[in-house]
This record gives sequence, structure tokens and C-alpha cells, in this order.
Amino acid sequence: MASQEIETLTAALARLPGLGPRSARRAVLWLIKRRETALVQLVDALAAVRDTLVECSTCGNVDTSDPCGICTDARRDQRSLCVVEEVADLWALDRAHLFTGRYHVLGGKLSALDGVRPEDLAIDTLLARVSAGGIDEVLLAMNATLEGQTTAHYIAERLEGLPVRVTQLAHGLPVGGELDYLDEGTLAQAIRARRQL
Ligand SMILES: [Zn+2]
Repeated sequence: MASQEIETLTAALARLPGLGPRSARRAVLWLIKRRETALVQLVDALAAVRDTLVECSTCGNVDTSDPCGICTDARRDQRSLCVVEEVADLWALDRAHLFTGRYHVLGGKLSALDGVRPEDLAIDTLLARVSAGGIDEVLLAMNATLEGQTTAHYIAERLEGLPVRVTQLAHGLPVGGELDYLDEGTLAQAIRARRQL
């Protein structure tokens, strides 16, 4: 029987995405054996996150200030807004340095299966931002999944009537992808989105 402290830590870790009770227990034992080299660093990193990171009340990004560094960056294009499902998507797009506008994080995607409804996502705040004016383009950068695309369509409908251009990420061949290896859905999208040379 493990001590109460170990049980509590194991239970906390087991709630992380991708970790179950078994891997959580393994992680706890691994950390205990590496007190100086891993445990102390993890504790410090967790404390730093707890003490410094906040959610941006404008866009939903996670940063050390609210509004976040992206929302307050005057060099960014204020007239262009990119809508993403999760903060991880925002970070991925921003690492690419190709989109120069600002973002809006929905906090998930519509899902009948998981019971996620429009009011569970940051859609009303998105409509409020767009309605406030000053935005020309809303780029819907949802994942190329059924639920992601359902979410994009729903948002596009809600934006109808507002004076903005609604665009969507193109779907198609991955860079370096060979036709042979692609699934039918990707191929179909690539054919539908074909363009003149
Ligand atoms: Zn922000």
C-alpha cells in the first residue's frame, strides 16, 4: 500500500490526457528515483506555470499577461482574425510565422458524441469581437475532421450578415506526400480544391 501522498500524486497525474492509472504510477516511481535530476525541475516548472500563466480574456491564448502578447502586439494585422479549436493550434500556426493577424480560441469543437454545444465554446465572444467592427477577414482554421468542419460551417453561418470575409484553410496534399499513400478523403479534398496553373 503506497502512502497517501503517492496516491494523491498518482491520481492527479492519471487525469492527464493520455495517462491512465498504470502509467501515472510508473511516472511517480520514475520521479521519486530521480529526485534531483527530474522531480525538482518538474516541481519548479509547475510552480512557474501556476504563478505566471493566465488565459487571455480576449482570445483565449495562454500567456503571462492578459491581454496576451499577441493581442497587444501593434505590429500584427488588427483586421484579420484566425479562429482555432485549441491553444495548441494557435501555437502551431504562430510558430509557422505565416499568419500575421490575431487569433480566437474556441476551446474545443462541436460534438454531438461528447455533448459539446455552441454555448460550450467561445463562439458568442467571437461574434462580439467581429460585431465590434475593425475586422475584415475571419479565417476558420478548424481541424480537417468531421467535427472540425461541422464547427467551421456552424460559425460561418453565424457570421452571415456581418461585414467580414470568411475564409477557410485549404485541405489537400501534404507537402512531400505521395498520391499512393493518401487516404480517399484527402485525395477528394485535393481534387475539389484544384487550381489553375
Ligand atoms: Zn489574446
